[in-house]
Amino acid sequence: MNAPNKSGWKPQMEVTEDGLHNGPMTTTGNRALMLEEPLIFEIGHSETTGVDLPEIDESAPTRLAGVERSEPIGLVGLTEPETVRHYTRLSRQNYGIDLGFFPLGSCTMKHNPRLNEKMARLPGFADIHPLAPQQSVQGALQVIHELGDWLCKLTGMPSVAMSPKAGAHGELCGILAIRAAHTARGDARRVVLVPESAHGTNPATAAFAGYEVEDIPATAEGRVDVAKLKERLGPDVAGVMITNPNTCGLFEKDFREIADAVHEAGGYVYCDGANFNAIVGRVRPGDLGVDAMHINLHKTFSTPHGGGGPGSGPVVFSEALAPYAPLPFVKKSDEGEYYLVEEESGDECGPTFGRMTAFHGQMGMFTRALTYMLSHGADGLKQVAEDAVLNANYVLRSLEDILYAPFADSGPCMHEALFGDKDFGGDLSTLDLAKALIDEGYHPMTVYFPLVVHGAMLVEPTETESKASLDQFITAFRSVTERALAGDETMKQAPYYAPRRRLDETAAARKPKLSWTDPE
Ligand SMILES: *Cc1c(COP(=O)(O)O)cnc(C)c1O
Repeated sequence: MNAPNKSGWKPQMEVTEDGLHNGPMTTTGNRALMLEEPLIFEIGHSETTGVDLPEIDESAPTRLAGVERSEPIGLVGLTEPETVRHYTRLSRQNYGIDLGFFPLGSCTMKHNPRLNEKMARLPGFADIHPLAPQQSVQGALQVIHELGDWLCKLTGMPSVAMSPKAGAHGELCGILAIRAAHTARGDARRVVLVPESAHGTNPATAAFAGYEVEDIPATAEGRVDVAKLKERLGPDVAGVMITNPNTCGLFEKDFREIADAVHEAGGYVYCDGANFNAIVGRVRPGDLGVDAMHINLHKTFSTPHGGGGPGSGPVVFSEALAPYAPLPFVKKSDEGEYYLVEEESGDECGPTFGRMTAFHGQMGMFTRALTYMLSHGADGLKQVAEDAVLNANYVLRSLEDILYAPFADSGPCMHEALFGDKDFGGDLSTLDLAKALIDEGYHPMTVYFPLVVHGAMLVEPTETESKASLDQFITAFRSVTERALAGDETMKQAPYYAPRRRLDETAAARKPKLSWTDPE
């Protein structure tokens, strides 16, 4: 039970005007077994700790040479059971893939098999140190090497850099390799072309690497406008960054033609591989003329993500860019021993652009991803792509009669279905529908991305959802869509049942309050 306390914290639940959506306010703010929980600063005390410490003998000599603390540091504590309850209650307010369907488009929020976790926790992988002698961690190095080998085979590319720690980090790795290749031949190109439907990390990466970013428009059917792209190619264009399948959920079927034109003009082709889930085992990006592509292990290969990490974004390279790949990388000697190439000097290393991270990358993610690959096998991975695409088309075709689907006529979608908020009644928008979906027990889909569709709603079901779970979701989605089309103004106040109601998300993102101040 949490009584209101010194900060004036009070239960968040309120009775709304229509009286329909909230029961009577409880004294505690708890709603049955859904418990309210204030911040630890609001319920803790500086005198309380979860451990017993010996009394300090003030007269005893210290070795701190006069730098003893003179004021309290203001940290609050709780008893051990209070601490356990505090964090358990907070964790129950968290929505995760183990709790329910998570239709975030572009993010590939799929089930993380428990077998992956079991393997990643084996002491030989979990308890080793990056500076351990290489002879003592042969198994771990073999995992990195074999995973890299799978990634090269699945993508049809000759080389891979394992160290980048997320998709965006992989993009930077790829663009730095492109820059190094141009620099090596004395070619100071300054422009990178990015389609307007791209994920924000693409233009951000190119700009971070010092390039000017230019937009390439999309066609009415949701794909890159090849004619416009070709028109813009020239001696100042270092390369293009194209997502395939793209963020409208469509396969860029002219990719090979685009790649040939870019190469002809002396540029390189970066492919954003975040959507590889849709084509793994079916399409090899190397066959499409890609020079560099990151793979989000935390999307396609079922390693956990959310809340900012951890991620892992290995980058595969073509023959042309492979020499510029970053250090370190794992090699296998003729005697069958695995070792890391760490030094720029020496004949094992090409003209590398340098290093992305201190060590070899995310060992825990590597182990999980390889476990996933081995447990599926090559045929199973192909089925992943087929089932993911089937599920997305099921969602698209089950909702297109009621919800605006801008590219429904462009053929089947890939792994995600894109909708827009056209025809919503009153001043209701995508945001209101997303909030109403929370009340129905669903994490909302990706909203307002990609930017090419008004009020975009990007739904990615992934292959791990059953037909029953999709049917339930579609029923909920239809019901909130019907309310939105009818202009149901009560949606403006949604969510009604979440632990917190409607938040000012823009202020939270732009002006986050990162520290607590005592209101007294
Ligand atoms: C997720 C994603 C990225 C960025 O990957 P992170 O691992 O989140 O850094 C880039 N592009 C697309 C299309 C994505 O979906």
